[in-house]
Amino acid sequence: MNVVIQTFVFAFGAIIGSFLNAVIWRLHVGQSFVRGRSKCIHCRHGLAARDLVPVFSYLFLGGKCRYCRKPISPHYPIVETVTGLLFVLALMATVPAGETAAMTDLPRLLFHWFLVSVFVFAFVFDLKYLMILPEVIGPATVAVLLAHLALGDGWFSPVLGAVIAGGFFRIQFLVSRGRWIGGGDAWLGMFMGAALGWQKTLLALFLAYVGGATVATVMLITGRERLGQQLAFGTFLSAAAVTVLLFGDALLDWYWGLVF
Ligand SMILES: [Zn+2]
Repeated sequence: MNVVIQTFVFAFGAIIGSFLNAVIWRLHVGQSFVRGRSKCIHCRHGLAARDLVPVFSYLFLGGKCRYCRKPISPHYPIVETVTGLLFVLALMATVPAGETAAMTDLPRLLFHWFLVSVFVFAFVFDLKYLMILPEVIGPATVAVLLAHLALGDGWFSPVLGAVIAGGFFRIQFLVSRGRWIGGGDAWLGMFMGAALGWQKTLLALFLAYVGGATVATVMLITGRERLGQQLAFGTFLSAAAVTVLLFGDALLDWYWGLVF
């Protein structure tokens, strides 16, 4: 596929990643995420356009604020880079090779970029603040169901996926009285089910548990189990969901190839 297009898509994804960073921070501190300029979190100096270029500003400034020289968290350029890469992967997964000019794929591509953005948001927010925000994930779920209808996917598989994953976590939450998983995981499960449809939701649930168990084992062996206990399940769920969104068909083909 054309490397120029991929470069543009990476840059676009990195800009979206930068936007997600701002939304995450503003929701965390309770600011409106629509109005107001971005500021340094240390000295509150307003940031100019040249301070807000994804990835490059961080590298150029050596990871420090231009005005107070206090360190900027490396999570900002990491989120920007990862979002950019995921946008390129979504392009490659959505638009068949050699058909980059096919505008008929554009609505589906935009839909997949939206899903990637929500999962990146959920991953980072749960990792940093151990929370899933129903006020974001709920409306996003409604938007996804409407998008499926608009794209002609039908409603049955997304709704069943939402009921399966949302119900699965809701029951665990009620049975364990919130000790196994948080109440927000049911919301994220519902969103994931609506996004992926029920077949791929089952695959994503499986991957999330395998990923969670693997990381927990590694943490236990390396004596870092306290760090492991702080890892929220929503991060595994988000990572598994993006993996299935981008590589689900290949994974399912491989799996059925093993079985039959
Ligand atoms: Zn500063």
